[in-house]
Amino acid sequence: MKEFNINQLVRKNILELQPYISFRDHNEFEKPVLLDANESPFGEFNRYPDSTQKKIKQKLSELKNISPDQIAVGNGSDELIDLIIKVFCEPKKDSILMMNPSFAMYGFYASVNENRVIKLDLNENFEMIKDEFLKTIKQGQLKIFFLCSPNNPTGNSVDDIEFYVKNFNGIIVIDEAYIEFSGRKSSIKLLEKYPNLIVLQTFSKAWGMAGARVGVAYASKEIIKLINTVKAPYNVNSLSLDLLLKNIDNQEILNQNLENTLIEKSWLKNELQKIKYINKVYPSDANFFLIEFKNVEKVYQKLLEKEILTSKRTPQIPDCIRINVGNREENIQLVTVLKEMES
Ligand SMILES: *Cc1c(COP(=O)(O)O)cnc(C)c1O
Repeated sequence: MKEFNINQLVRKNILELQPYISFRDHNEFEKPVLLDANESPFGEFNRYPDSTQKKIKQKLSELKNISPDQIAVGNGSDELIDLIIKVFCEPKKDSILMMNPSFAMYGFYASVNENRVIKLDLNENFEMIKDEFLKTIKQGQLKIFFLCSPNNPTGNSVDDIEFYVKNFNGIIVIDEAYIEFSGRKSSIKLLEKYPNLIVLQTFSKAWGMAGARVGVAYASKEIIKLINTVKAPYNVNSLSLDLLLKNIDNQEILNQNLENTLIEKSWLKNELQKIKYINKVYPSDANFFLIEFKNVEKVYQKLLEKEILTSKRTPQIPDCIRINVGNREENIQLVTVLKEMES
C-alpha cells in the first residue's frame, strides 16, 4: 500500500465541515411515521429519496466486488467531478492536471472553483508522454489529475495506467465513462493498492441511461466520506434510483446495448473508410470516432444543414469531428450525406 495521508490533501474547511445527516436514512425503523422532513403525506413521489443510496450501493458492491462504503453515487459523474474538485482544491491556490485534448468538464469545474488547469499535451497519436508527465508533476501544487480512459474526444485508451497512479502524489481520478466499450479491465482493482485513486463510472453511456443522470465513484472509505460530506443530501432523485435498481440486475440490458453498439461501430467504420476525403478514422475503444477530414468545415456545415449533429473539434484538434455511433438508421443517414459530398 502506498504511503499516503489523505488529510494533507483535503481543504481545511472541508475537513472541519459537519455533513448534513438525514436521521431517518442513518437509522433502522420498522414502520416509521414520517413527520420529520415537511414532506406532503399525499402523492406518489411525496418522500425524499434515500440520501445514502443504500440499495443501489449494495447492488454495485456485489457487482464490482467492493465494500459499499467505497462507493459514492452522483447526479451523473459530472457532479462527482465537481464534488472531487470541491473536496481537494483550495480556490485560487491549487491546480488540476488534465490530458490535452480530453473531457472539457474537468477544466470547467476547476474554473468554477477558481483553480488553475494545467494541460498535458498528448502526442500525435493522442498518447501520453511519460517523461512529459513526470516533468509536469514536479512543478508543484497539482492536487488532482483527471486521467480519462478511453479518452474523450480521442477514443483511445491509456496504456500502463498504473504508472501514472504510482507516480502521482495527489488524487488521481480515472474516468472510465467508456470502459465497457473497450473490453479493458477497470482500474477499480487498483484501489486496494492506491489510496489516492478514484475511479469514475457512469450509467450514461453503455447502460443507455443518460437521462437518469447517475454516475458512480469508487475510492477509499476516507475519500468517499469526504465526497458524501460535500454533496447535496438528496442529490439523486427517486425516479432514477428506482429505474437503476430495476435495470441493474438485468445485465442483459448492458450486454444488448454493448453488442448492438459494437456491431454498428464496425459497420460505420467500414463505411467511413470508403470515403476518400476522410484522411483518418482514429482507433476507438469507445462508442464514437474522431475523424480527420480534408474539408472539415464543409462537411460539418453540410451535416448541420441536414440536421445531423456532430461535434466539431477544431481548432483544438485541427480538421477533426467527433461523431458517435448511432443506430443503423442514423448511421445510414450520416453515411448517405457523406457519400453525396464525394461527387
Ligand atoms: C459522457 C462522459 C461522462 C459522463 O457524464 P455523466 O455526467 O455521468 O453523464 C463522464 N466523463 C466523460 C469523459 C464523458 O465523456
